[in-house]
Amino acid sequence: MTRLDELTTNLKRARQSIAQACTAAGRSPAEVTLVAITKTFPLDDVRALAGLGVTDVGENREQELKAKAPEAADLDVTWHFVGQLQSKKARSVVKYADVVHSVDRASLVTALSRAATDLGRPVRCLIQVSLAEYGPGPVAGTGRGGVEPHDVPALAEAVAEAEGLVLGGVMAVAPLGGDAGKAFDGLASVAARLRSEHPGADWISAGMSGDLEAAITRGATHVRLGRALLGTRPVLG
Ligand SMILES: *Cc1c(COP(=O)(O)O)cnc(C)c1O
Repeated sequence: MTRLDELTTNLKRARQSIAQACTAAGRSPAEVTLVAITKTFPLDDVRALAGLGVTDVGENREQELKAKAPEAADLDVTWHFVGQLQSKKARSVVKYADVVHSVDRASLVTALSRAATDLGRPVRCLIQVSLAEYGPGPVAGTGRGGVEPHDVPALAEAVAEAEGLVLGGVMAVAPLGGDAGKAFDGLASVAARLRSEHPGADWISAGMSGDLEAAITRGATHVRLGRALLGTRPVLG
């Protein structure tokens, strides 16, 4: 089996899982965007997926984003940045990404806004919400990034007021070893509260290869799939 065959099969399967979860939840598959997380995989895979109709691609490291995105400038894909972001890397990410899913502090909002304004590239920002409270351990230190739910409104307000940034909604990663369904229920209520104050901020980026059904049931608009599409990643040191 060639790599293209493999990606074709995986993509078909992933689209079927999304469609099934949508049907079960009484939603239309058109409401859910598949974002292919291509971290650690080569540019050829991005090209192949784009050729198969994937429109959204994501990376979690600035270095990889800046290596791949310019080489893929001929492709009609939207680039997403989903990893933790140092403020000093904000400019480079804004150069190449259309959406940043991992906005988690006011200083990053300032850095992103300055970069977006300087470069004349508006950036859609999602507030990353910590769901550590739904995990098995003590909340402190077990999180997988993001702000605590009660800090979302203030950070969202900062994004909404920042020049060059568009407040898009929320993003989260389910806690390891926790109940993804409960965690995504919590995220759904954070998202509903955000929408009541900012009606346009209606994206919910939730669900990865292991928990996409749980996320779609609870309103995810963007699922971020790595392994389900591309296969097992090499372990990084
Ligand atoms: C790697 C990654 C994903 C994809 O995870 P899989 O389990 O491979 O589907 C999604 N979101 C973020 C933030 C990631 O870093």
